[in-house]
Amino acid sequence: MEYIDLRSDTVTKPTPEMREAMAEAEVGDDVYGDDPTVNRLEGLAAEMLGKEAALFVPSGTMGNLIALLVHCQRGHEVIVGNRSHIYLNEAGGMSALGGIQPCPVENQPDGTLAIDDILASIRTEDVHHPITRLICLENTQNICGGVPLTVEYTRQVGDLARQNGLSLHIDGARIFNAAAAQSVLVKELVEPADSVMFCLSKGLAAPVGSILVGPSEFVSRARHIRKMLGGGMRQVGVIAAAGIISLEKMTRRLNEDHARARRLADGLRQIRGLVVDPQSPYTNMVYLSLSEEVSTSAHQITQKMKEYGVLVDPENARRFRLVIHYWIDDSAVEKTVSAFQKALH
Ligand SMILES: *Cc1c(COP(=O)(O)O)cnc(C)c1O
Repeated sequence: MEYIDLRSDTVTKPTPEMREAMAEAEVGDDVYGDDPTVNRLEGLAAEMLGKEAALFVPSGTMGNLIALLVHCQRGHEVIVGNRSHIYLNEAGGMSALGGIQPCPVENQPDGTLAIDDILASIRTEDVHHPITRLICLENTQNICGGVPLTVEYTRQVGDLARQNGLSLHIDGARIFNAAAAQSVLVKELVEPADSVMFCLSKGLAAPVGSILVGPSEFVSRARHIRKMLGGGMRQVGVIAAAGIISLEKMTRRLNEDHARARRLADGLRQIRGLVVDPQSPYTNMVYLSLSEEVSTSAHQITQKMKEYGVLVDPENARRFRLVIHYWIDDSAVEKTVSAFQKALH
C-alpha cells in the first residue's frame, strides 16, 4: 500500500529524473576536489545564495554544527531561538563537540527573536561572562508554524550583529520555501548573513544532503572541519546529481506545495473537532489541534489515519503538524481531509 505521507518533507523520495541523473553522474574523489558533479552543485548553490563559496555536507545538522565550529571557539556563546532546531533538535552538538554555550532567546509567535531581546542577551565585557560571538536565525521557523522571516527583519538582525562585532548564521533548512512564499530571491533573503545552511533533502526532494555557504575563507575552514567530523565523502557526485535538480527545478515549484497546504488547511477547517492554527499555513506546514470536545488523543487518531492510508505525526497528545511536499498531489489532499473526517466522526 502506498501511504500518503505527511509526517515531514524529509520523506520525499528522489524523482525519476533524479534517479536518472544519479545513475549517469560523472564522479571523482571529492576529498581531492575531483568530483565534477559536486563542484557543479557547490558552484550553483553559491551563485543562487549570493555567497562566494559552498560546501556539500551529509546533513543539515552537520552543516549547522560546522558553521558553529568555524564561527566560535570553546567558551563562546551563541544567541539562538528557544524553539530553534539548533537548540532543540541537534543533540546538543555545539556544547558536546564545540564547547560552545547556547544563549536561548524566546522565539516570538512570528518566528523572530525580538531585537531588544537579542540586544539584551549580548554579554558585556566582564571577566565573569562568556563571550557572545554569533546570532542564529531559523528561516522558515519550523516550530512557530513554518513561518518565513522577512528580508527587512533579517537586515535588522544583520545590522545589529555587525554593530556588535558578531556574525550571523541562518539555519535555512527551508530557506527556498521562505523565499518562494514571499516572492523574493533567496540571495536577498540571506544577504545579511555571514553563513547559511540549507537542506536539499526536504522540500527540494533530494535523497541526501545539505549545503553550507559563506565567504571562501569560511568555506575552506568548513571543509577542514567537515573532514574532522568524518563528513569527507568520495564519489558523492551520485548524490550531488540529485541536488542539482533540486536547485534547478524543485526550487521553482514550492508555491505549488504552499497552495496545497492552504487547500488542506481549508478542508480541515470544515471538520468539527479540528482547530487549524489561525494563520496556518505560512508555507508548506499545516499546524492544527484537537478541540476540547474531542476525547480521542492525537496518537489514537494517528493510528486510525494510518488504517485509512495517511501517515501523520502527532506533535503531542492534542496537536499535529502536516507537511506538504512534492509527492502530495491534489487527490492526496482530498483523501487526507476525508480520512480526518472519518477518524473523528
Ligand atoms: C531538518 C532541519 C535541520 C537539520 O537537517 P538534517 O538534515 O535533518 O540534519 C536543521 N534545521 C531545521 C530547521 C530543520 O528543519
